[in-house]
Amino acid sequence: MNQKARELRAQGHPVIDLSIGEPDFKTPQYIQTAAKQAIDTGRYFSYPPAAGYEDLRTAIADKLRQENQIPCMPQQVVVSNGAKQSIANVLLCLLNPGDEVVVYSPHWVSYSSTIRLAGGTPVLLQGDVADNFEPTPEQLDRAITPRTKAIIFSSPCNPTGHVLPRTSLQAMAAVLSKHPRVLAIADEIYEYINFTEVHTSLGALEGMQDRVVTINGVSKGFAMTGWRIGYMAAPLWLAQACEKLQGQLTSAPSSIAQRAALAAIQGSREEVLAMVEAYRQRRDLVFSLLEAIPGVRTPYPSGAFYVFPDVSDYWGFTNGDIVIQDAASLCMYLLQAAHVASVPGDAFGAPKHIRLSYGTTTAQLQSAIKRIQIALARLR
Ligand code: PLP
Repeated sequence: MNQKARELRAQGHPVIDLSIGEPDFKTPQYIQTAAKQAIDTGRYFSYPPAAGYEDLRTAIADKLRQENQIPCMPQQVVVSNGAKQSIANVLLCLLNPGDEVVVYSPHWVSYSSTIRLAGGTPVLLQGDVADNFEPTPEQLDRAITPRTKAIIFSSPCNPTGHVLPRTSLQAMAAVLSKHPRVLAIADEIYEYINFTEVHTSLGALEGMQDRVVTINGVSKGFAMTGWRIGYMAAPLWLAQACEKLQGQLTSAPSSIAQRAALAAIQGSREEVLAMVEAYRQRRDLVFSLLEAIPGVRTPYPSGAFYVFPDVSDYWGFTNGDIVIQDAASLCMYLLQAAHVASVPGDAFGAPKHIRLSYGTTTAQLQSAIKRIQIALARLR
């Protein structure tokens, strides 16, 4: 899909890319300034400590205690090259061949790939679309076997945009309390991009203190994907193992990016909130435009910056040339006929859906959805 999008662009076609999972905003100025100042002091040109600078780990532990009510000491925090590395560190430390990880699905594609890379087996668990795909506590209980090492989920969720309410997390905690060997990996990378205005951390719930690895970072909320800073807060034994592993894999995350992340985490949330308000307006716009297209059924997203419509009503349709057989052929058709790039849901574990990102301007979004509508109307 990427290759095709590039080819079409090279031929001069105005491709609108709704396939990418990153903010279109610039990193706030005060964070850029902190990075420049860090360079100018000349103090940050050597290898940093493997788990990150002490002041950054302390600031993260403070943030987790104050904003998330997660009991946490700085020694439990490991700073990495993005939340992606934090997740990989945890899975590589935890899993032995044949171990299972229950993955709330639809899920971020890297969960299943990284579980396999670490020798484990992903066990996908999916609830009803009417319940925003949330599995029931009974489903979770049944999915846990003697081989289960962990469960993993994101809230707000990539790709569905669903935010798990406190009641669902409490139900999850109740199931976990019956299975004391099983850890939960709570991926909160979209924490701030939450239109319900209530973010609950599983790690804050009673009885979960030693059971949860909280994953977060600065990529999404602070528009800092390129700076590559993420972090985890874990039970001490696991944090120490991840620190050891990271010391061998990458030594440590970039010194200057860590200084920028410190400014982000300690700074005001004003610019974050302004970005979130823009995402909220785009969510409303995209959702209402998609609602008007026959055969496109979109679960209402309450966070992140994705919509995840079911487009399976179009299976078997054709424009006389391309036959729509699945999400991949529909995405390819939309790219060719509407010059809009999207992602088929198969990779996320939901083959009837496609993912559209609204990390782009309102004008681009209006134009993209209009083009999708016209292209779909041509199918018979
Ligand atoms: N977790 C989820 C659910 C994501 O969607 C992403 C990025 O797309 C990440 C983690 C990785 O974030 P980072 O840029 O911090 O590696």
